[in-house]
Amino acid sequence: MIETVLNPLLLARVGHPTTQRNCESERQVARRASIENSLLAAIPRKEYRRLFASLEPVTLTFGDMLYESGETIRHVYFPCSSLVSLLALADGHFALEIGLVGREGMVGIPLVLGNDVSPVDALVQGTGTAMRMASAQFLKEFRLSLPLQQALYRYTHTLMTQISQTAACNRFHVLEARFARWLLMTQDRVKSDHFRMTHEFLGHMLGVRRVGVTKAAQALQKRKLINYSRGDITVLDRRGLEAAACACYEIVKDMHGGAQAAPAMHAMRISAAT
Ligand SMILES: [Zn+2]
Repeated sequence: MIETVLNPLLLARVGHPTTQRNCESERQVARRASIENSLLAAIPRKEYRRLFASLEPVTLTFGDMLYESGETIRHVYFPCSSLVSLLALADGHFALEIGLVGREGMVGIPLVLGNDVSPVDALVQGTGTAMRMASAQFLKEFRLSLPLQQALYRYTHTLMTQISQTAACNRFHVLEARFARWLLMTQDRVKSDHFRMTHEFLGHMLGVRRVGVTKAAQALQKRKLINYSRGDITVLDRRGLEAAACACYEIVKDMHGGAQAAPAMHAMRISAAT
């Protein structure tokens, strides 16, 4: 049986993204950083330049709530080094992570599907950079750009796969395997062996109480797959962690890989030209 925990809305610090639009050099840095986002990197150079004029570099901080469930989506976010968790609520105060968005995606997908209200909480779980765009401008660009539409439709499909697989995973797979899957997904997105995450947040991500997180972390640590101390997580054995994770990890990863195979060529071209 899956235990649920209190909505992190009630526990996390609610903040606002910090804007970085200060000087031209920061814009140049932002241009380089923004193409770390796979969706932006998929856009042909000419269209990307037009799109970039409407993008604003921001820093998303751990605990920032980008939208709450039922709220109007005022901005879309393209994470670069940041990580955003999509949380489903039950009874208004129980939360469970149903999706994770990093540099491979965009936060604000309901807009792509013609809806401007968020069905989930979007909570920053990894501090880092992102590019954001006002919703009205995004919709204008979305209608104008076929490559942007194609990239976002592909991503929407992979996000739907991730969400449906997560639902099945939460019901059928044991906590240790789910924790290993979550660690791998996080590592893929932050591109680092080391990241910070509190027990409290891990509980929200996995839908268990803190004691459950402790047991799962201790089990993986005992197998020398990770080191976990006071919120610091280090992946020690990536292959071992892959073996410990449930098959859901590979299913979702393959879907992302397939969806992004075509844009990768654009990404290389843009990187070389910037
Ligand atoms: Zn699973």
